[in-house]
Amino acid sequence: MEAFGIVKRAVKLKLLDVKAVNLRSFGLDKRQTVDDRPYGGGVGMVLRADVLYKAIQRAKGVGLRAKSRTVLLTPQGQKFNQKMAQRLAKYDELIFICGRYEGFDERIRQFVDEEISIGDYVLMGGELPALVISEAVMRLRSGILGKDESTVAESFSETKVDKILGRENHPLLEYPQYTKPEKWKVKSGKSKVKILNVPKVLLTGHHRNIEKWRAEESAKRTKKRRPDLL
Ligand code: SAH
Repeated sequence: MEAFGIVKRAVKLKLLDVKAVNLRSFGLDKRQTVDDRPYGGGVGMVLRADVLYKAIQRAKGVGLRAKSRTVLLTPQGQKFNQKMAQRLAKYDELIFICGRYEGFDERIRQFVDEEISIGDYVLMGGELPALVISEAVMRLRSGILGKDESTVAESFSETKVDKILGRENHPLLEYPQYTKPEKWKVKSGKSKVKILNVPKVLLTGHHRNIEKWRAEESAKRTKKRRPDLL
């Protein structure tokens, strides 16, 4: 993960550090077993709590950061959203426990700070959920994106838009964005040419009107696409 673009740069600038802890190296006996069959029967294998516990303890010892949070990834956790990303971005260190197979021994739950799901579907392991959450969190840390403002007015964030509409603490979807060309001629279907324009207000340079337009579009869009957010 640390090999690409923004994350790579952030690691280089020491704004960020990513470390993987291999569960296998805490495995038992010669075969480095990390899982076993569930008591009571049933399909699949379950990760052992004692092995996971050792790995968590090690992970906690790796970074010497004070404010650390241990997150268990499970479809049974609280569903991840932008608000949670903002909350997690305040920690110095996040430790993600990625399940595999059928999951983990229930007893490990006592040793984590919280449980998170990335959505109501079941994946094969917690690695992708860990990447999804870390990316959402990383981009909120200051200095990681080029301009800090770029995370201020985006979807799901509480923004100026809220204030203009006299609302508080309601995440909305972002307003529509446009760039060049101002008039875009595009062939649609059989030799029909369409001209798609940029909304006039955006070309006026009148900041207050633009802000108002964006606020209204944000609200309209959220109402239409995601009424559940309102
Ligand atoms: N039998 C388990 C699912 C196991 S899936 C159950 O019904 O709850 C294997 C592992 O993938 C899980 O332990 C978890 O770490 C990860 N995983 C799968 N889907 C996930 C999701 N939606 N969110 C977070 N982690 C998930």
